[in-house]
Amino acid sequence: MNTDTTLAEKETPGVPVGRFAPSPTGRMHLGNLFTALMSWLSVRSRGGRWVLRIEDLDPQRSKIEHARMIEDDLDWLGLDFDEGGLDGRGAHGPYRQSERGAIYEEYLDRLRATGYTYPCTCTRADIMATQAPHQSDGRVIYGGRCRPALLPSPWRETEAKHSTRLYVPDEEILFTDRVYGPQSVNLTRECGDFILRRADGAWAYQLAVVVDDALMGVTEVVRGSDLLLSTAQQVYLCRLLGLTVPEYAHVPLVCNTEGRRLSKRDMSLNMALLREQHTPREIIGRLAHMAGLLDSPTPCEARELIPLFNWKKMPRIECIQVE
Ligand code: GLU
Repeated sequence: MNTDTTLAEKETPGVPVGRFAPSPTGRMHLGNLFTALMSWLSVRSRGGRWVLRIEDLDPQRSKIEHARMIEDDLDWLGLDFDEGGLDGRGAHGPYRQSERGAIYEEYLDRLRATGYTYPCTCTRADIMATQAPHQSDGRVIYGGRCRPALLPSPWRETEAKHSTRLYVPDEEILFTDRVYGPQSVNLTRECGDFILRRADGAWAYQLAVVVDDALMGVTEVVRGSDLLLSTAQQVYLCRLLGLTVPEYAHVPLVCNTEGRRLSKRDMSLNMALLREQHTPREIIGRLAHMAGLLDSPTPCEARELIPLFNWKKMPRIECIQVE
């Protein structure tokens, strides 16, 4: 089933492949840079390759100008990539998710063939109405209103508008994170059956990311700790599709001085401001200090950190506050 993945992996056997997969919905902030630097150092310290994938699945919020700025900011910081980006160099393109719909379609068909997907016509209001009252952290857990009584259950596309959901088992999904250690997540409790394609035809991040990482031969996924729960969904998807599960390293989020996690929407500590006020060496030194690679935020080049890089030095905390 996963012949494409096997091919991608065979091209460079044993060489780690990492990726940075930003959504071009705004200018990067210090947290995005932290993730990018850690992902880059992790593969560069082992002679690996780095892929830049543009996660522009959300047509309303994604802008080509933002993707251009991301490339420019990475270049300014000295983080070079071997594959991908807007000009899409490399053998595993396209590298923009908005151009990969036909590929996702094929993998959705494979999932549908398992009998564990189903059409869902619930509106957001329907889903909210069945939320447990204690669900106050903003997470939405699907209660299974449209789930067929018997699974596996084959079905055909109809004219009616619907999203496509994937059944999740009531069991623990296990994986080990390089930073946060062994994880055990029950998807029924944490999110319920999840969406693979929305009613408006938009592809869900979970499906796209799993398919892309596999087809691009990615061996390690480095990203913010807010995606730890998603990882369990992705491990489950890999399992159903027979894809190799990559290694995962989640890194602490970066929070502002009030302890609030940085977002692309607030302008604090975004690259426009950082580039006005600092040199690349200052920013890299500060990030390296946050990662435990330097004792003090001494300015340095990204490549000078390659011999110092070690995952063991990364603080195992949820959020790193900027000074
Ligand atoms: N596109 C996501 C972001 O910009 C990252 C997803 C991932 O690395 O898997 O936060």
